[in-house]
Amino acid sequence: MWACQDAYPSSPPPGRSLVRSWLGMNALVRRGVARVGIPCIWRGKCFSSGNEPAESNRVTPMLRHLMYKIKSTGPISVAEYMKEVLTNPAKGYYVHHDMLGEKGDFITSPEISQIFGELLGIWFVSEWMTSGKSTAFQLVELGPGRGTLAGDILRVFSQLGSVLKTCDISIHLVEVSQKLSEIQALTLTEEKLPLERDAESLVYMKGVTKSGIPISWYRDLKDVPKGYSFYLAHEFFDALPVHKFQKTPQGWREVLVDIDPQVSDKLRFVLAPCATPAEAFIQHDERRDHVEVCPDAGIIIQELSERIALAGGAALIADYGHDGTKTDTFRGFCGHQLHDVLIAPGTADLTADVDFSYLRRMAQGKVASLGPVEQRTFLKNMGIDVRLKVLLDKADEPSLKQQLLRGYDMLMNPQKMGERFNFFALLPHQRLHDASQERNARQSKIPTSSVAGFDELVWQ
Ligand code: SAH
Repeated sequence: MWACQDAYPSSPPPGRSLVRSWLGMNALVRRGVARVGIPCIWRGKCFSSGNEPAESNRVTPMLRHLMYKIKSTGPISVAEYMKEVLTNPAKGYYVHHDMLGEKGDFITSPEISQIFGELLGIWFVSEWMTSGKSTAFQLVELGPGRGTLAGDILRVFSQLGSVLKTCDISIHLVEVSQKLSEIQALTLTEEKLPLERDAESLVYMKGVTKSGIPISWYRDLKDVPKGYSFYLAHEFFDALPVHKFQKTPQGWREVLVDIDPQVSDKLRFVLAPCATPAEAFIQHDERRDHVEVCPDAGIIIQELSERIALAGGAALIADYGHDGTKTDTFRGFCGHQLHDVLIAPGTADLTADVDFSYLRRMAQGKVASLGPVEQRTFLKNMGIDVRLKVLLDKADEPSLKQQLLRGYDMLMNPQKMGERFNFFALLPHQRLHDASQERNARQSKIPTSSVAGFDELVWQ
């Protein structure tokens, strides 16, 4: 862990100690943070598969579109359903909604507390320093939401200007949502400097951040330049489409979405009558009787792994999930309430827990992976307690202190987000090899990893 005294018992390298002391020195409080209430529901919370009492079965444009599709070609996979509902370019939930925050459908860690993004900013600076202070790096965020997390990270980069001054940084955002990309631009760029826009181009928007760093928007990771990069995905993988399978006496059968013949304008789940091609994603020794697989997550992890192996850098992935143990986690959220996934499609968020064991398998052979570790462990290792104390000491209004404490509790409490959310990282093999040699050289008996936030190294 980067802030651990044991990592450098005698003389820490100068850059590292500077980063460590940042936690205690800079006490800027994010503007507006104290004014929002924290809703008590977050997406990692509960499970549902459309079994809650159904509300009025509103016929949304998306429901009409899906019924037309199913009538013409037959029942569709849950993955196709999820993809259409969330990212259909004309009617998708993500494309035209701002679903985040108090007035939206769910809340995420960066929206709850500025400390979250700050500690992630420190993670990237720490990794950049440990892996040789390259002369340039790209920060690439997948699914940046309202741009709040990137904003908090950029504030840390600015405050650590003396450490990063020789480094050429650029920001690259991968976002399918027209609406959210506009909000991200408002959060991150100077209003007075106009953005370059070209809807037809792979880089559909371009500008400069408030701190003068070039920033570009893409719809697909594949279009981001392949240079030395730090990748970040927070609550992104859970939004990718999953296939669902049920074990039956006849073998695995895929769960499909069909029109309910009993009730007009209603969808229902059915089982495919025979094996479907996506079954190939199920492990031969699978013991569960219901599984969810996310091929899109596999493709993205393979792309990230190839890029990191080729050009260097790291990926930090944070999400709620499990290590290949859970079964039915597909659920919907609307207005901070659980929502039947098949009702009024297009008006609610759909999500499924991330299977970190699958991500690990997809990275294997190309890069090393670390984690998943629980959010509360990761943030503790990153120095959240020190940072909270400094912000509390500097906060002048009691309401601000309250907000900071409530935010800390949401992020860290095992009953809230502390245990359900996990951190997972991809790193070049050499990075972990160096870390292990460094530890052996010091003959340390303390089983800590030199990779910030993670307690122990996991060898692939
Ligand atoms: N990371 C943010 C937002 C999480 S919500 C936060 O933690 O607050 C999911 C984000 O991923 C949204 O920005 C959504 O528009 C984006 N998204 C969902 N599916 C996507 C896809 N297939 N490609 C790119 N972005 C996607």
